[in-house]
Amino acid sequence: MTSEPLRISAKTLGELAMPTFCQRCQWIKLHADSLPFQGFPSIFSSIDSYTKKVIHHLIETHGQAPDWLSPLGPVSGFLSGSDLHHSRYKFLHAESNVLLTGAPDDIFITPNGTHLVIDYKTAKFTANQDKLSPIYRTQLNGYAYIAEQTGRPVSGLALVYFEPQTDEEHFSHKPNHRESGFAMGFSAHILPVELNLASIPPLLRQARELYDQPAAPAGREGCKDCQAIQELLRLNT
Ligand code: SF4
Repeated sequence: MTSEPLRISAKTLGELAMPTFCQRCQWIKLHADSLPFQGFPSIFSSIDSYTKKVIHHLIETHGQAPDWLSPLGPVSGFLSGSDLHHSRYKFLHAESNVLLTGAPDDIFITPNGTHLVIDYKTAKFTANQDKLSPIYRTQLNGYAYIAEQTGRPVSGLALVYFEPQTDEEHFSHKPNHRESGFAMGFSAHILPVELNLASIPPLLRQARELYDQPAAPAGREGCKDCQAIQELLRLNT
């Protein structure tokens, strides 16, 4: 076993599966303590948190998931938020000495005791999102890999898009007009994702090999971002 454990999130592992993957970019991300320009609008965290509260409330109240989640099949419960925190949701792959971590949006429990791993997206579903599908596929399979290795059998994976309802029938709908402001609805679109746990160990080995390189490898030929960085560095000297 290599001496220093490498910690990597399932989402970052997904970047290795992208056709546009750049070894240099990933080597820098794996070695840097922090990177600039990593801000994320907090509204999405609020919507994600609210989404979970609504769904958990409905499951607890009715003992089953709402009808708009029925394509997932029967659901009888969910794992608690503390079980899904990245400090607890992890697995050390001994062969590569990579600690795979994650913070799944939700994991549902089915009546037969298996688990469904869910990632929520606040966005309209478009074919364009296919470009990112290798990341999402790997991220969800990474979560499933951790679940299976820590004693939780997984029977399915899904992306659940919550599409904002912004047409006239919605913005002119009287119940959406409130004394203190307005309400906006979201409609669920479910995209099942193939369960492929065997895809994870090769990526863990690949991450380890990349991390162990003593210096950053060459970047992608003709990358405009790299040219822009060189130009910024030139202006700054
Ligand atoms: S070539 Fe592009 S993707 Fe690779 S390190 Fe440079 S900026 Fe990043």
